[in-house]
Amino acid sequence: MSDKQGLFSKLKQGLSRTRGGLLKEAFGGSERVDNAFFDTLEEGMILADMGLETTQTLLHELRGRCKEEKITSPAAAREHLADMIAALLSPKAPFAPAEGAAALLIVGVNGVGKTTSIGKIAHLYQSQGRKPMLAAADTFRAAAAEQLQEWAKRAGVPLVRHNEGADPAAVVFDAVASYKAKGCDLLICDTAGRLHNKTNLMHELAKIRRVLSRELPETPVETLLVLDAVTGQNAVSQARAFLECCEATGVILTKLDGTAKGGVVVAVSAQLGLPVRFVGVGEGIDDLQPFDAKLFAQALLP
Ligand code: GDP
Repeated sequence: MSDKQGLFSKLKQGLSRTRGGLLKEAFGGSERVDNAFFDTLEEGMILADMGLETTQTLLHELRGRCKEEKITSPAAAREHLADMIAALLSPKAPFAPAEGAAALLIVGVNGVGKTTSIGKIAHLYQSQGRKPMLAAADTFRAAAAEQLQEWAKRAGVPLVRHNEGADPAAVVFDAVASYKAKGCDLLICDTAGRLHNKTNLMHELAKIRRVLSRELPETPVETLLVLDAVTGQNAVSQARAFLECCEATGVILTKLDGTAKGGVVVAVSAQLGLPVRFVGVGEGIDDLQPFDAKLFAQALLP
């Protein structure tokens, strides 16, 4: 099995709950493309949490195409919808780590899968011959650094941590020094997800950003917001609250394997205008995939 096929079957497996229900009924149970087909499909897309507005925009376009191109089979309509979703999800800008050395600031509330995703990203890049370094800048909870250390060990990458309560920006400062000394090329910083104190969080993240731009002026920084797909549309509201605290450049959507709401990937991208960079499809170290819009659209639809 090629790498791409392996990724696809894992993604498909992760999205199996999303692909069921009314989406399956629309494509599997309809004889032809008619009003009943579109009604079932619309309900299925909304239940998969693609968002009302995005669903309606996509279906308006699909209806138009079907009419124009005299499409009558649900299978052909599916291909058009998959193309439209892929186009909507395609990132408009390249992802910094794909182009060379980069720093990643990982933000998100506790429990969404931040630590796990950092471990998985480190492993992914490490296995591609890159040199990741982790900074445990969530100093608010002692358990956070412990857990990150476990992941660092598992992935076989270095980590810099301080004691609980230390200044997160100081952790990042030391991590940068170690990153330079070891000749690393990907710095991944965990952060505390204290959204209930927005002013603190904003200051903390801004201070970390200042350290990065002063100490690594040539290195692009991506701020990735981690969202839990299980929370569906609530992930979109949570993201909006985070965007008041920092300028995110992309999203990691975790736990797609545990939900029937995988369509939230489409809603997040369309409603927030942010590219999805990774999706989490399980708890293992290999269960994170760089986001591929075409592959995703194919795996999402039954
Ligand atoms: P953090 O508090 O944001 O750092 O969250 P953690 O990384 O500790 O993750 C919280 C829980 O979610 C853990 O039990 C993880 O194993 C689980 N988790 C994280 N990502 C995924 C995923 O993609 N799929 C599944 N099924 N579980 C995940």
